[in-house]
Amino acid sequence: MTDRLVEANRQYAAAFTDPGMDARPVLHVAVVACMDARLDLHAALGLELGDCHTIRNAGGVVTDDVIRSLTISQRALGTTSVMLVHHTGCGMETLTEDFRHALEQEVGQRPAWAVESFRDADQDVRQSMQRVRTSPFLPHVDDVRGFVFDVTTGLLREIDPVA
Ligand SMILES: [Zn+2]
Repeated sequence: MTDRLVEANRQYAAAFTDPGMDARPVLHVAVVACMDARLDLHAALGLELGDCHTIRNAGGVVTDDVIRSLTISQRALGTTSVMLVHHTGCGMETLTEDFRHALEQEVGQRPAWAVESFRDADQDVRQSMQRVRTSPFLPHVDDVRGFVFDVTTGLLREIDPVA
C-alpha cells in the first residue's frame, strides 16, 4: 500500500512549485486533533498549506508529547492560539486502561504510556483544554478553544470549558 502513496507523491511533486514559505504558521495557530481517518482537518477548517501546525494522535488527547510539540510550536515557531478537536464516534470511547493490562499479558511488558481512553468526548475536550492552560511550558494560553467534530454532518460543536 505504501507503494501507492509513493507513486501519488511522484505526481504531486511533478506539479509542485516551491511556495517559498517560512516554517512559521501563517495563522499562528496549532491544532491538536484525533488521527481519525474521517477527519480531514485542512478541508474541515478551511486551512491552506502553511497556515497552521497540526498535531495528531489517537483521541487528540493532550499527552506530554503534545505539550512538547505545542511548546516548540509556541516558543520556536510563533503560534499563539491552540484549537483542540475531538470527534463523534471516536475509537477511544471503546477502549479502557485494561488495554494496557491486556498488552502486558500478551507481550510481557507494560507500556510506559497511558491509553488515555475516554467515555465522554466533551469531558475529555475540557480536560485537554485544562492541560494546555495549566502547562508551565506554554507562554500563550489565553486563546485555547475546544471542539467536537461530528463525523456525520461535518460540523464542529464548541465545548464550554466550564460546563
Ligand atoms: Zn478519534
